[in-house]
Amino acid sequence: MSTRDVIIIGSGPAGYTAALYASRADLKPLVILGHEPGGQLTTTTDVENFPGFPEGILGPDLMNNMKAQAQRFGTEYLTTQVTQIDLSKRPFKVTCENGDEFLTQSVIISTGASAKYLGLPNEKQLIGKGVSACATCDGFFFRNQVVHIVGGGDTAMEEAMFLSKFASKVTIVHRRDSFRASKPMQQRVFDNPKIDILWDHTVEEIIADDTGVTAIKVKNVNTGDMAQRETNGLFMGIGHSPNTKFLAGQLDLDGHGFILTKDGHPDTNIPGVYACGDVQDPYYRQAISAAGSGCMAAIRAERYLEEFGRV
Ligand code: NDP
Repeated sequence: MSTRDVIIIGSGPAGYTAALYASRADLKPLVILGHEPGGQLTTTTDVENFPGFPEGILGPDLMNNMKAQAQRFGTEYLTTQVTQIDLSKRPFKVTCENGDEFLTQSVIISTGASAKYLGLPNEKQLIGKGVSACATCDGFFFRNQVVHIVGGGDTAMEEAMFLSKFASKVTIVHRRDSFRASKPMQQRVFDNPKIDILWDHTVEEIIADDTGVTAIKVKNVNTGDMAQRETNGLFMGIGHSPNTKFLAGQLDLDGHGFILTKDGHPDTNIPGVYACGDVQDPYYRQAISAAGSGCMAAIRAERYLEEFGRV
């Protein structure tokens, strides 16, 4: 079994930036790309808020550029995902889905987070045909159409505001009679004439034909009454799940499964193990903040290896 200085688990702006810094520090990192190489940005179109691209850049292009830049300095990539990791002793052991096993002196975890879905039978088949978990990615396709969004947190508010720029009508469907979103975000929604709110309702069914989503069935949680509402789109705004299942109790996580890091550093509770990007950040969730934390994780890993020894 080969032993590495640093293995980076997960690709995306955090993982690729960690790889860039680690490879330029001559640590010859191995990036295990995961099931969605490049992460959430590969399902986005224009990225207009990543500094350095005055005209914007396509999400997949940005990720390919980052990947190539890290490769130029000696980063290796492996297309598989990690199924198990043993952090109980150093060197740490990493087991992959394809059967590969590695030992490594340090680990950087950048596995990101995935949008949550409701669990309705046809919702995943309808992604791209009216169902979406990313208004920023797909809102543009709903120009002058009617859309519904589920959720009552900041994500749902933010996505509803964004959708209102394109859609003719946006309805937020929420399972309770109050939002958990911050007050200013709620106020912006209440003040927006294009947005209305269906309190105390859940989405029970998505109806679609060959053209995509046409309606949803909603249930009043107080009376049990069902109603059908015509819609061209259904957006999920019910939060994100960090991709930390493979860690299975080996690292300190918060109540939602995000990796806990220390005092603004990418350090986890285990020395030599670092976390960056959305897997440890339920708050900012931006490509640029993920990239920044990836840089920090690589610098911390480099200093740790200087102190405690390389392969
Ligand atoms: P939250 O967990 O805060 O909110 C999720 C919302 O979805 C809740 O209203 C919840 O309902 C609802 N929900 C969850 N599961 C279901 C379900 N199965 N069916 C129906 N409704 C469901 O997630 P967010 O993604 O909104 O926010 C995560 C964090 O990120 C927060 O800390 C937030 O403040 C932050 N954030 C900040 C932003 C900003 O400042 N610009 C933007 C976006 C997020 P209920 O309330 O009943 O539990």
